[in-house]
Amino acid sequence: MTGKTVRRLAYECGFELAGVARAQPLPEAEWFFDWVRLGMAGEMQYLTDHRAALRADPRSLLPSARSVICVGKLYNTPHPYSTEFHEPGRAWISRYAWGRDYHKVMRRGLRRLAERLQQAVGEPFEWRAACDSAPLLERALARQAGLGWIGKNSCLIHERSGSWYFLGELLVSLDIEPDRPAPDRCGSCTRCIEACPTGAIVPTGQVGGPAYAVDSRRCISYLTIELRGPMPSSLKAELGFHLFGCDICQDVCPWNRRAPATGEPAFQPRHFAPPLDWLQALDAEDFRRSFAGTPVLRTGWEGFRRNLGAVLEAAGRPSPR
Ligand code: SF4
Ligand code: SF4
Repeated sequence: MTGKTVRRLAYECGFELAGVARAQPLPEAEWFFDWVRLGMAGEMQYLTDHRAALRADPRSLLPSARSVICVGKLYNTPHPYSTEFHEPGRAWISRYAWGRDYHKVMRRGLRRLAERLQQAVGEPFEWRAACDSAPLLERALARQAGLGWIGKNSCLIHERSGSWYFLGELLVSLDIEPDRPAPDRCGSCTRCIEACPTGAIVPTGQVGGPAYAVDSRRCISYLTIELRGPMPSSLKAELGFHLFGCDICQDVCPWNRRAPATGEPAFQPRHFAPPLDWLQALDAEDFRRSFAGTPVLRTGWEGFRRNLGAVLEAAGRPSPR
């Protein structure tokens, strides 16, 4: 089985990016452990508990794995970037969360890819699919598989189509010719660092590792999605209109200037920049109904109210009921 065949099958299964990495220990694991040791994972226990060590080697998930097929599915739609959108009275939801939750779409595509591979190989093999839910260093694997490089903003960037991708992996017990890692093309650019409102993209001081990392504790995405409990008051003031997540460091990235749009119906926006008046009037039941099936539910009602309170405060409005 060649990487070229795998790519063809992956494209047929609805992925725009595909490549192959060897299932072996990842050098990037050491940098990840340093990032965790420095506390930059904040309170995200799924990154810091016993599962952290499993990320060093994809075979922790499937001991028979020989190759990791990495795929990317585009979620960009032809709507303005947050840095171009200036309508008072509206809140911003991160681009990835406008449509239906991506896990189902990705898992369906990966399962289809496994079936197509079975047909092509003609003999049984072991496989396991993952998308954002298993302890894997997804971006490091995608880089190894040639899908792109990891930018200073920590996102995987493809040189022709940018960074608006969901990543997924199919671990297989097949030996597939691996791809070559993509070169880093950030160069001397520092746009994302300069644009980040909370100064969350920080130098690592790493030798031989990434020069920059996102300190989650300062990142609006973490503060509005992952953090439970109250928001640090020093950072709350920087939230602006961000109700759920933040896209700024991707919006300003020059590699996203000509990012293509997805044709996937599930990712078409249901809630693009919702009006504050409407958000303010929601009760818990309305919230659950309105955002059912989208990633926004991850905050829970309490987190949503906390975020909305901060956005309303920034807009000079009273707190939600
Ligand atoms: S998501 Fe927003 S807050 Fe987080 S690093 Fe990027 S620009 Fe900064
Ligand atoms: S904005 Fe510049 S430095 Fe940041 S990820 Fe994009 S290319 Fe790299």
